[in-house]
Amino acid sequence: MSSEEISDDAACAADNCIDADCNVRDTYSTGTGQPRPLGQTIRARFYPGFNATTQAWALNRINALQGTCGATGYRCEHCNQCVLKSNASLDHVVPVATHWNTTGRNTDQNTRFQWYNDTNNLEVVDRNHNSSMGSGGVNYRRDVTQNFSGGPNC
Ligand SMILES: [Zn+2]
Repeated sequence: MSSEEISDDAACAADNCIDADCNVRDTYSTGTGQPRPLGQTIRARFYPGFNATTQAWALNRINALQGTCGATGYRCEHCNQCVLKSNASLDHVVPVATHWNTTGRNTDQNTRFQWYNDTNNLEVVDRNHNSSMGSGGVNYRRDVTQNFSGGPNC
Protein backbone atom coordinates (compact mmCIF):
# COMPACT_ATOMS: atom_id res chain seq x y z
CA MET A 1 0.00 0.00 0.00
CA SER A 2 1.46 3.35 -0.93
CA SER A 3 1.16 6.40 1.26
CA GLU A 4 -0.96 8.07 -1.43
CA GLU A 5 -3.58 5.35 -1.23
CA ILE A 6 -4.03 5.99 2.45
CA SER A 7 -3.29 9.71 2.49
CA ASP A 8 -6.83 10.76 3.34
CA ASP A 9 -7.25 8.01 5.88
CA ALA A 10 -5.13 9.38 8.69
CA ALA A 11 -1.86 11.11 9.37
CA CYS A 12 -0.89 8.12 11.48
CA ALA A 13 -1.07 5.64 8.62
CA ALA A 14 1.91 6.86 6.69
CA ASP A 15 4.31 3.99 6.18
CA ASN A 16 5.36 0.52 7.10
CA CYS A 17 5.49 0.89 10.87
CA ILE A 18 1.83 1.89 11.35
CA ASP A 19 -0.94 0.04 9.55
CA ALA A 20 -4.01 1.57 7.92
CA ASP A 21 -5.98 1.04 11.12
CA CYS A 22 -3.47 3.20 13.03
CA ASN A 23 -1.91 0.34 14.93
CA VAL A 24 1.81 -0.27 15.39
CA ARG A 25 2.86 -3.18 13.25
CA ASP A 26 4.92 -5.84 14.97
CA THR A 27 6.77 -6.95 11.88
CA TYR A 28 9.89 -4.98 12.73
CA SER A 29 12.18 -7.91 13.30
CA THR A 30 15.45 -8.41 15.12
CA GLY A 31 17.08 -9.75 11.97
CA THR A 32 16.31 -13.27 13.04
CA GLY A 33 13.01 -13.30 11.17
CA GLN A 34 11.15 -13.25 14.48
CA PRO A 35 9.05 -10.23 15.45
CA ARG A 36 10.12 -8.37 18.57
CA PRO A 37 7.78 -7.94 21.50
CA LEU A 38 5.62 -4.84 20.94
CA GLY A 39 7.39 -2.81 23.63
CA GLN A 40 10.79 -3.44 22.06
CA THR A 41 9.46 -2.45 18.65
CA ILE A 42 8.01 0.79 19.99
CA ARG A 43 11.20 1.68 21.84
CA ALA A 44 13.40 0.93 18.84
CA ARG A 45 11.29 2.88 16.36
CA PHE A 46 9.82 5.74 18.36
CA TYR A 47 12.32 6.41 21.18
CA PRO A 48 15.60 6.60 19.26
CA GLY A 49 18.01 6.70 22.18
CA PHE A 50 20.21 9.09 24.11
CA ASN A 51 21.85 12.06 22.47
CA ALA A 52 25.43 13.22 23.10
CA THR A 53 24.36 15.78 25.70
CA THR A 54 22.56 13.17 27.76
CA GLN A 55 25.45 10.73 27.46
CA ALA A 56 27.87 13.38 28.68
CA TRP A 57 25.51 14.22 31.56
CA ALA A 58 25.43 10.53 32.51
CA LEU A 59 29.23 10.25 32.66
CA ASN A 60 29.43 13.26 34.94
CA ARG A 61 26.64 11.91 37.12
CA ILE A 62 28.29 8.50 37.48
CA ASN A 63 31.49 10.18 38.66
CA ALA A 64 29.54 12.41 41.04
CA LEU A 65 27.98 9.29 42.57
CA GLN A 66 31.34 7.55 43.09
CA GLY A 67 31.56 8.55 46.75
CA THR A 68 33.29 5.85 48.76
CA CYS A 69 32.69 3.15 46.14
CA GLY A 70 36.22 3.31 44.72
CA ALA A 71 37.44 4.32 41.29
CA THR A 72 35.48 1.60 39.47
CA GLY A 73 32.22 2.04 41.38
CA TYR A 74 29.35 4.43 42.11
CA ARG A 75 26.11 4.37 44.10
CA CYS A 76 23.19 3.04 42.08
CA GLU A 77 20.34 5.56 42.32
CA HIS A 78 17.83 2.74 42.49
CA CYS A 79 19.19 0.76 45.47
CA ASN A 80 21.95 3.08 46.83
CA GLN A 81 24.49 0.23 46.81
CA CYS A 82 27.99 0.41 45.33
CA VAL A 83 27.91 -1.09 41.84
CA LEU A 84 30.32 -1.15 38.90
CA LYS A 85 30.55 1.85 36.59
CA SER A 86 31.03 -0.59 33.72
CA ASN A 87 27.46 -1.85 34.29
CA ALA A 88 25.85 1.58 34.50
CA SER A 89 22.67 2.32 32.58
CA LEU A 90 20.13 5.13 32.42
CA ASP A 91 16.66 4.44 33.76
CA HIS A 92 13.55 6.52 33.12
CA VAL A 93 11.78 7.35 36.39
CA VAL A 94 8.49 7.72 34.53
CA PRO A 95 8.71 4.59 32.35
CA VAL A 96 8.79 4.75 28.57
CA ALA A 97 5.66 2.58 28.46
CA THR A 98 3.77 5.11 30.57
CA HIS A 99 4.92 7.97 28.36
CA TRP A 100 3.95 6.08 25.22
CA ASN A 101 0.46 5.32 26.47
CA THR A 102 -0.26 8.83 27.72
CA THR A 103 1.68 11.08 25.31
CA GLY A 104 4.02 9.30 22.91
CA ARG A 105 1.28 7.67 20.83
CA ASN A 106 -0.28 11.10 20.40
CA THR A 107 2.71 13.18 19.28
CA ASP A 108 5.74 13.41 17.01
CA GLN A 109 9.20 11.88 17.02
CA ASN A 110 10.98 15.03 18.18
CA THR A 111 8.69 15.41 21.20
CA ARG A 112 9.36 11.80 22.19
CA PHE A 113 13.10 12.27 21.67
CA GLN A 114 13.13 15.37 23.87
CA TRP A 115 11.24 13.55 26.60
CA TYR A 116 13.52 10.50 26.36
CA ASN A 117 16.54 12.73 26.91
CA ASP A 118 15.10 14.85 29.74
CA THR A 119 17.65 14.35 32.51
CA ASN A 120 15.07 15.36 35.13
CA ASN A 121 13.47 11.98 34.44
CA LEU A 122 16.69 9.93 34.40
CA GLU A 123 18.62 8.01 37.02
CA VAL A 124 21.93 6.20 36.75
CA VAL A 125 21.36 2.64 37.89
CA ASP A 126 22.99 -0.74 37.57
CA ARG A 127 22.03 -2.43 34.32
CA ASN A 128 20.44 -5.28 36.27
CA HIS A 129 18.35 -2.85 38.33
CA ASN A 130 16.95 -0.97 35.34
CA SER A 131 13.14 -1.00 35.29
CA SER A 132 13.21 -1.03 31.49
CA MET A 133 14.31 -4.64 31.76
CA GLY A 134 10.55 -5.03 31.93
CA SER A 135 8.06 -2.27 31.25
CA GLY A 136 7.32 -1.48 34.88
CA GLY A 137 4.20 -3.61 34.65
CA VAL A 138 2.75 -1.26 32.04
CA ASN A 139 1.64 -2.72 28.72
CA TYR A 140 2.26 -0.70 25.57
CA ARG A 141 -0.82 0.29 23.61
CA ARG A 142 -0.71 -0.68 19.95
CA ASP A 143 -3.02 2.06 18.67
CA VAL A 144 -1.89 5.59 17.89
CA THR A 145 -3.93 8.76 17.44
CA GLN A 146 -4.43 11.12 14.50
CA ASN A 147 -1.73 13.37 15.97
CA PHE A 148 0.90 10.67 15.81
CA SER A 149 3.90 10.81 13.51
CA GLY A 150 6.94 8.57 13.66
CA GLY A 151 9.82 10.22 11.88
CA PRO A 152 10.98 10.33 8.28
CA ASN A 153 9.81 6.83 7.34
CA CYS A 154 6.63 6.70 9.28
ZN1 LIG B 1 20.68 -0.69 42.23
